[in-house]
Amino acid sequence: MQKSKHHLYIEVLAKRILSDDMEASAIQQEFQRLEAGFFGENRLKQALSDFYFKTDHHIFYNFECMNDNGFSHQIDAILVTPLFIVIFEVKLLSGVLFYKPAQHEFFRIHNEKRENFRNPLDQVYRHQLFLEQCLRKWQITIPVYFAVVIANQHAILDESLEKFPIFHISGVPNFIENIYRNPANSNSNMSLIVANLNRLYQALPPRRSISLDRLKKGVLCRQCDYENVMNYHYGSFTCVVCGAKSRDVLFETLYHYRVLMGDKISNRQFREFFGIASIKTCSNILSRLGFDKYGTKRGTYYIIPENILTWSKKKL
Ligand SMILES: [Zn+2]
Repeated sequence: MQKSKHHLYIEVLAKRILSDDMEASAIQQEFQRLEAGFFGENRLKQALSDFYFKTDHHIFYNFECMNDNGFSHQIDAILVTPLFIVIFEVKLLSGVLFYKPAQHEFFRIHNEKRENFRNPLDQVYRHQLFLEQCLRKWQITIPVYFAVVIANQHAILDESLEKFPIFHISGVPNFIENIYRNPANSNSNMSLIVANLNRLYQALPPRRSISLDRLKKGVLCRQCDYENVMNYHYGSFTCVVCGAKSRDVLFETLYHYRVLMGDKISNRQFREFFGIASIKTCSNILSRLGFDKYGTKRGTYYIIPENILTWSKKKL
């Protein structure tokens, strides 16, 4: 399962943001939220992988796209079968969850504190309307159901939620089974729906950006939880605090740069981000990497490839 671009961006930013930055703790919290969400989606994936489907099926996880109004949709999972479609929204909430349907108000009480949340039923209903409109456009008749799945088994669902499609992950098999038992009319060709959804899919860009001056510079030590910098010496990096040595950390640092700043990097940008003063050393490293190179003289820049993290095994 793939993390969204935004998730990857925040993951790197959480490692690179200066610890005294105004937003530092907000970014750490957002990263925790995204990780929790991803963990929840994986739990749903496990539940669906363990289910015996009565028909063919295809599941999209973390489906992202834009609608005709220019707004985005991020759908945790879409289950496509020849008879029906189900949209899943996964929530990893703790505490006691309540719903006031007339007001569309969704809240929880946790540690005696009441907290309002964006209503997940409304969220997933919006996806349903969108998907139904797409299907009409594609002239496909198939019912679209939705469910909000609570991935935290310690959460308590109040009775006020009883009439709504919101339940613990363990309820997923039963929910799907019930739909199979009451099939509606459908003229659908499953592979056509899957092909159309693949065409509609569009990985959304990160929802924020950051200026370079707010980031920790240098090659950061993984063993020190990205707190301390590593010095370059004869092809490898050594942590100034714990003494850890690494060659591969070069690729990880290039990955950080690519995620936060983009795929183009010049010698000057490389020196600044890696904290290596020597132009010559940086030229050597950059030319040995063998990246695609564009421009001339001071305008020269290199393109960091998308799969830079998998480069670790390559010899430098
Ligand atoms: Zn270290």
